[in-house]
Amino acid sequence: MSDTVQCSECGLSADELQRTAAIRCPACVRTFRTELFLLRRRMGVQGVYAGRIPGERGTEHASLHEELSLAIDRDDFEQAVVIREKLKLLNSRSNS
Ligand SMILES: [Zn+2]
Repeated sequence: MSDTVQCSECGLSADELQRTAAIRCPACVRTFRTELFLLRRRMGVQGVYAGRIPGERGTEHASLHEELSLAIDRDDFEQAVVIREKLKLLNSRSNS
């Protein structure tokens, strides 16, 4: 329990990451490099990156998640954040 890794920015824990399979902030990418790598391997790189996203919208969503996964793969944190923002926009649009 004491060796649980936690994101210093948003407080996301490794356990929660395993459940949701979704990062919350750029610092998560750095904090959970290994976990993300293992998660991707477990799920395959098929855009199944997000566990629970409100207002799931199918293909546009899936492809963005795939992009995000690839950006993280390349250590391209800036690009990862940009894609996260796009996903957020997509969510808020489909929720309203
Ligand atoms: Zn974080």
